[in-house]
Order: sequence, then structure tokens, then C-alpha cells
Amino acid sequence: MASGPSSAPARAAAVNRRSGSLPKKGEKLAPLAERLARLGLVRDWDFVLHLPLRYEDETRITPISELRYGQTCQVEATVVSSHLRQGASMQLIAQVADSSGTLQLRFIHFYPSQRKLLGPGQLVRCYGLVRQSFNGLPEMVHPKVKACTGTSTELSKTLTPVYPAGEGITQTWLRKRIDRAILDVDLVDLVPPSFLEPFALPSLAQSIRELHHPAPGADFDAYAERRTPAWRRLKFDELLAQQIALRHGRSIRDQASALPLAGAPQGGLCEKLLASLPFELTGAQQRVLQEIFSDMNRPHPMHRLVQGDVGCGKTVVAAIAAMRAIDSGTQAALMAPTELLAEQHFQKLKSWVEPLGVEVLWLSGSLKPRDKAERQERIRSGQARLIVGTHALIQDAVQFANLGLAIVDEQHRFGVNQRLKMRCSSASGYMAHLLALSATPIPRTLAMSYLADIDVSVIDELPAGRTPVTTKVISLERLPDVVSAVRNAVGQGRQCYWVCPLIEDSQKADLTAVTMRADALVEALPGARVGLVHGAMSAEDKNARMAAFAAGNMDVLVATTVIEVGVDVPNASVMVIEHAERFGLSQLHQLRGRVGRGSAKSFCILLFDPELSQTGRERLRIIRQTTDGFEIAREDLRLRGPGEFMGARQSGAPALRFADVQTDANLLDAARSDAASWLALDKQKALAHAARWFSGKTDYLDA
Ligand code: ADP
Ligand code: MG
Repeated sequence: MASGPSSAPARAAAVNRRSGSLPKKGEKLAPLAERLARLGLVRDWDFVLHLPLRYEDETRITPISELRYGQTCQVEATVVSSHLRQGASMQLIAQVADSSGTLQLRFIHFYPSQRKLLGPGQLVRCYGLVRQSFNGLPEMVHPKVKACTGTSTELSKTLTPVYPAGEGITQTWLRKRIDRAILDVDLVDLVPPSFLEPFALPSLAQSIRELHHPAPGADFDAYAERRTPAWRRLKFDELLAQQIALRHGRSIRDQASALPLAGAPQGGLCEKLLASLPFELTGAQQRVLQEIFSDMNRPHPMHRLVQGDVGCGKTVVAAIAAMRAIDSGTQAALMAPTELLAEQHFQKLKSWVEPLGVEVLWLSGSLKPRDKAERQERIRSGQARLIVGTHALIQDAVQFANLGLAIVDEQHRFGVNQRLKMRCSSASGYMAHLLALSATPIPRTLAMSYLADIDVSVIDELPAGRTPVTTKVISLERLPDVVSAVRNAVGQGRQCYWVCPLIEDSQKADLTAVTMRADALVEALPGARVGLVHGAMSAEDKNARMAAFAAGNMDVLVATTVIEVGVDVPNASVMVIEHAERFGLSQLHQLRGRVGRGSAKSFCILLFDPELSQTGRERLRIIRQTTDGFEIAREDLRLRGPGEFMGARQSGAPALRFADVQTDANLLDAARSDAASWLALDKQKALAHAARWFSGKTDYLDA
């Protein structure tokens, strides 16, 4: 493999200095290879598939009088004046003119060399976004400026690609490196022509060359919006690679051995638990349970995700499945992402299964070492049959005797590796069946793409007798009204949550906000018992306070989003969310699901900052109008885009860089069926295609 020149870091840093991003004082850059690896750039193919983020059109010159605000253009003009101005920081302001008008340039960061370049009388080319300045002239902030001298006056012949780059990696270096990689790899088309015909997609070689160097006169907008045939070809290839990788991972897993867990013939724990529950399972719960049972019957590991809105009753379904595993002579374990949530599961499972004679073992990181060792031994010996805990369950010291069923709650909070580790950590040598639970509904198109390797069951029905939660959207200016609503609820013996947002990057500010709110509420609600829970507290403190709230010994719980997942306090009837505009839609929906669990009329009050952004406003409108988790997830996806929605760790599937599962749904549909037929027809070639895209970046290829 061709690699960067040995002096590249130094050179890149030097070029970087010229091109304007300021390295911080005393800061040392990591070695180039490491920085490239962070961008996923290791092999030649990685460079070839490192497609431009956007293009710059330096093939034309626009007269200043024809500049439009909001457009990115190139002008050729003479510097009329340039001066430094002391504002909040020192700025460099220059005015340049051509025969048609005058343009202002503004630099908030600059180098002495740039000042020199902009000396009066110099002929320069400036490329940048045009906006309106305060003095009425068109202005470019931090434009790209080049001296226009004899040899460099020729205009670019192609659109200039701009690549995603990291610190100390310049566009110039990347362009050269990518161009070399394109020459070095074999661009032979692996994809069968029959896959390409339905969409009239061009060849790989042509597409790659064109995307890195679009011809002059190319449809600039179509390239920018990634609508050209070449872009569609690469998107298709990416989707195809993803589908192949997921399918292949799945087929490997499907060949692994697991113990079939058929349960007890009659009178087993499963039956007993069902009989002892104070409620009937909903139709949806029963259906999903049958799907789980039929997977558990097979001699290959189950890999099933149960999705369902908050409060639909996933835990009880998981508990029944756990009883079936125990009935079949194996262990069952449930892992939750936080101590709080794990603790709640522990309490709930205990109340259900201890009357049946099943002991539940608790394992978490906060146990005393001796206690922990003793419990680990009980897991190792097989004495403990049902185990509930946190990440502590997947630490190396934990070795199950015979784990039949691994249950992972709020699965998106864990990485793939963690989930896989749990199911494999059994002395029996069999792989455990895996049951994942999630309250974050995943829209169909996303599920098709990212979750193609697992089975999904949906609990789409809430237990009867729930009163719907009324959602109110109220300006922070009306805080006193909200406080009196809380006072009323507390007066009627109800409990309230008051959630403050996490302030990004500032745990301290966060803490101040939440502490101040708690203090203010203590003052405003004389006689009410107000408690505080936040992320900086020890797990022990958090648990104690949550437990006090759950037991009804606290009226108002002020919290950061630590209560986000899973807590179940039926007497809580008011949920106040401060600065609701700062939360994601799915998060708001989850929080709202904390109330309305009992029979009392419940309210969710979304307090917003009066200076609300457009997206913020739209988000709150959606959450007020709908209580359907799937609808909300779809909107969330639309507002945030799939990357953020899924989170890098959610699926373990390789993230899509170019294709968009929403807008490219037809390509995705084709890629799905093509991946299946290609794997059946010529597995080696299909895998070679996937490897071009994902080699070295995946756990699931051998998962
Ligand atoms: P989630 O899906 O959010 O994890 P839980 O499993 O915590 O939901 O269930 C929420 C509440 O509803 C719990 O108190 C649970 O005992 C109760 N519940 C579960 N299934 C039913 C049902 N079929 N009928 C009535 N209540 C139920
Ligand atoms: Mg739950």
C-alpha cells in the first residue's frame, strides 16, 4: 500500500498554517497516520472512497455587481484598501474592486502573509460565500484568497473537490493522495451489470473519476446535491456493501450452536409466572412472546430486538422468556445500561419471581469486592439462575455456567461488542440466545438498512386502562403558573418530576442550574419534600433518592436526564421539562412516558425558552400533537438525520456515509435483494465488494 511521504506531518502542518486553521499554541499533532485513521483512511480503497463533501466552482469569475447574497462565488479584483480593526478581537478588513463594483473581505483570524497578500494594488482572486455587511457592501468572511500573477491566472478546468479532513490534513495533500490511490487500485467493476441496469448506473471507474473531478460545465447543483448518476452509483454500492456485510454476519451467526430452550412440559415457572401476574398480557405481548419462543426453540442463537413504546410492557415479556430459559435448565441474565434502571428491573423481577421460588442475583460495579467475588462464584457454579445487573455482567471475571438467554435492555446504549460479549461468556460453549429491548422505535427504512441482520418484534399496543398524558407547551415566562400546577398535584398526594437539561460540555453549569431550580422549588413549595438527582452524584446517592421517590417519600424529584430510561413510579402524574427545546424528540417522548403509568390524570409540561429556534418550535409542536412513538421517531429522523438518530453505537452496522435511507429508499430496496442473490451466487465476489467499503471497520463481519 502506498502511504504518505515521510515528511508529510511537518509539511501538512506547514501547509495548514498557510491555509488558515490555527493550531493551538504548544499543541502537538498526533502522527499523520493516526489522524488519517481517525477519518477511516488507511488503505488505498479508503482514499478512493473518500468522496468530496462538496465542490467549489473556481472555473468561473463573477463580476462583483452580479454577486448574490448566499451564493458562493469567485471574483477577480484589485485591493483598494486594507486595514486592521480592533473589535472584540483584531480583524483584518479589506476592500477589493473590479470594474463593476466593490467587495469587502473580513478576516477574524489571519496571518501576516495574508495581510501582505492584501496590500493595496494587488490583483487577487477571492472565493467565498457572499453575505451582506453592515455597511451595505457585499462581503466575504474568510474567503480563499490567491494572488493573481502571470502563471496562476488560468482558471480551474474542473470543479474543485473539498474533502472531509481533519486537523493538520490539508485539501491539497488529500487531493494528491486520493488521486494517487485512484491510480493504484484496480477499479474493476465487481458488481454484476444486471444490478446496475434497472437504474442505468454508470461504471465504477467512471463514477469514481467523475466524482473526484467533475468535468467543467457539469451540473453544479446536481453534484452538490449528490443527484448525478455517478453519485447514485456510489450510494448503491455503499448500500449493497452494507447489506452484504450484515447478511453475511447473520449467516455466520446462524450457523453457531445454541441450546434449544423448549421450557418445561407442564407446570413450569413460565406458566406459574403467567398465572400469578395481576394482569393479562396484551395481544401484542402474546404475539411477541410467541415469536421469541419459536426462536428459543431453535438450536441456533436467537438475535431478536423487541421494540415498543415506553410503558408497553417489555420487561414482563423478557421476564417470561427468562423463566422459559430457567425451565430449560439454563441461566438467564438481564443487563441494563444504568445502575438505576438495573435496580428497578431487579426489584420488579424479584417481586414477580421470588414468590415462585426463584432467587434473583444482583451484580453491579458498586458492590464491595468480596461481595462481588462471592456473587461471581455463584454465577460460575450455576447456583444463581437469574442474574440482573449493569456492565458488571460482561466483565472478564464473570463466567456463566450455562447462560441460555441474555437480555439487554435499552440495547442502543450498549456497543455491539458489549452485547456480543454477554452472549458468548458461557462455560457450556454454547452461544446464548439474545433478546434486546428498546423503547426507541426505529422507522422502517432505517430498520431495513441498519438492522438487516436481526429480527425485530414490535409491541404496538399499550395495556388497557392507561389514561393518556396531556401535553402542554408553556413559555418559561409563565414559570409561576407551572409551579402552582405542581403545588396542586402535590396537594392531591401526587408526585412530580422536574427535569432540567444537560448543558453540553459544562457539567458545572449544569449542576448549578439543577441545584438552583431545586432550591427555588423548595422555597416555592413549602411543606413539599423536594429531592435532587444529577449525574455527578454517586450511584449510591442517586439510588437512595430515586428509591425514596419511588417509595412515595419524596414529592418532587428535580433531575437531569438520569431519569430518562425506564423508571416506573405509577403515582407520579406531572412531568415538567425545562428548556424542552434542547431535548431530542425521542428523548422528550421517553420522558413523557414516565408519567401516566397510574390511573390519575397526568400532565407533561414542556417549558421553552421564548427565544426559540425554528427547529425547536417544530419539535415541540410535534411532541404536543402526537403520542405515537413511531411517528415521533420518523420526525426525529427527519429533523436530525440518520447518523445522529442511530448514534454510531446503536446498531453496530457500518454507518452510511453517502446513501440516505430515506431519499434513496429505492436503491436500498434493490440493494437488499441484490445482496441476497449475490451472496448465493458468488459469495467471494460479494464479500470482496463489501471489503472494499468496510474492511477493518467492522465487528459484525465475524460477529
Ligand atoms: P416498558 O416497555 O416501558 O419497559 P414496563 O415493562 O416497565 O414497560 O411496563 C410498564 C408497566 O406496565 C409496569 O408496571 C408493568 O408491570 C405494567 N404492565 C406490563 N404489561 C401489562 C399488561 N399487559 N397489563 C397491565 N399492566 C402491564
Ligand atoms: Mg423498560
